[in-house]
Amino acid sequence: MAKRDYYETLGVSKGVSADEIKKAYRQKAKELHPDRNSDNPNAEEQFKAANEAYDVLKDADKKAAYDRYGHAAFEGGMGARPGGGAGGFRGQGDFASAFSDVFDDLFGDFMGQRGGGGGGRSRAARGNDLRYNLRINLEDAFAGMQKTVTVPTSVTCGKCLGSGASDGSEPATCPTCSGMGKVRAQQGFFTVERTCPTCNGIGQIIKDPCRACQGAGRVEKEKSLSVNIPAGVETGTRIRLAGEGEAGLRGGPSGDLYIFIDVAEHQLFKRDGHDLYCRVPVSMAAAALGGDIEVPTIDGGKSRVKIPEGSQSGRQMRLRGKGMPALRGGQRGDMFIELAVETPVNLTARQRDLLKEFDELGEKNNPQSSNFFSAVKGFWDSMKG
Ligand SMILES: [Zn+2]
Ligand SMILES: [Zn+2]
Repeated sequence: MAKRDYYETLGVSKGVSADEIKKAYRQKAKELHPDRNSDNPNAEEQFKAANEAYDVLKDADKKAAYDRYGHAAFEGGMGARPGGGAGGFRGQGDFASAFSDVFDDLFGDFMGQRGGGGGGRSRAARGNDLRYNLRINLEDAFAGMQKTVTVPTSVTCGKCLGSGASDGSEPATCPTCSGMGKVRAQQGFFTVERTCPTCNGIGQIIKDPCRACQGAGRVEKEKSLSVNIPAGVETGTRIRLAGEGEAGLRGGPSGDLYIFIDVAEHQLFKRDGHDLYCRVPVSMAAAALGGDIEVPTIDGGKSRVKIPEGSQSGRQMRLRGKGMPALRGGQRGDMFIELAVETPVNLTARQRDLLKEFDELGEKNNPQSSNFFSAVKGFWDSMKG
């Protein structure tokens, strides 16, 4: 599908001022914001498109390039930024992580109302969800663990208990908007409703802000939490700690903290769902003669495995119930041993002689090779004929 023209996406014509582009973008973004469009499945896509368009058109250099070359100017990845916000912490969910910084930048007024639920009347706002990436090793994923994580977040201010007002004083109704959080302005034929510039939509102002938090009702702080990591987690498992995210604004409810698990590769075991795979090298002689070997198990123990006589490289043996536990109870997975027959190296002269002698003695030792060569011979014969 052809990409829509950026100006068209924002609903402005080419040549309008930067201010008008910004205004059009703000309008679009408000209309399309997911909090207001839970019933419109296309809103997020459209919002992303508007964001991408604005990302280019707000930047004089990018805009000039776009005006000249169109979308071709950004092929090769310099246009929109698909996955902003690197690092351990960011807003929860794809949408928020990709765009929250843009919102913070431009929509502080609007975002301040998120989750308030009262059409701008509400003074409190829910805190942001936080994401914490936790890398653990396979042994810990097997056994489960208790882990203390330190999260830089904001917590309710202890001095004003979240109200944002200094000792004893109360927040007052905003005089500009009478507590509505919005003001109306006549613009041509239309009455436009805007977020109140005095109180930023909160509906209240604080005349005497709390000195500890400058009126926000929350302060930046590191928080230590003990997290229970259940046995059986895997990369991508999310653990939600309700109410442990950022504190709300002015006494609003806290967001949630999501622990995202990332299980590191193990040097001995490969994981596939609940099953584990372990590649075990065996000597050529052991593979030919058969015998017992000891293999490690993920619980730190060992199991004896019988290698049948004449085992070939790649042969698999199953150890039932020696895999990973299921996250929500149920049966443990299996462990598969895969034999890797090792060709001997660093031969002494005597070993060399013995191997030559061994090779000359045998006619039926290598049925696979014999079959292969007779198949090859047949192939060549058929090509001649
Ligand atoms: Zn305070
Ligand atoms: Zn106001």
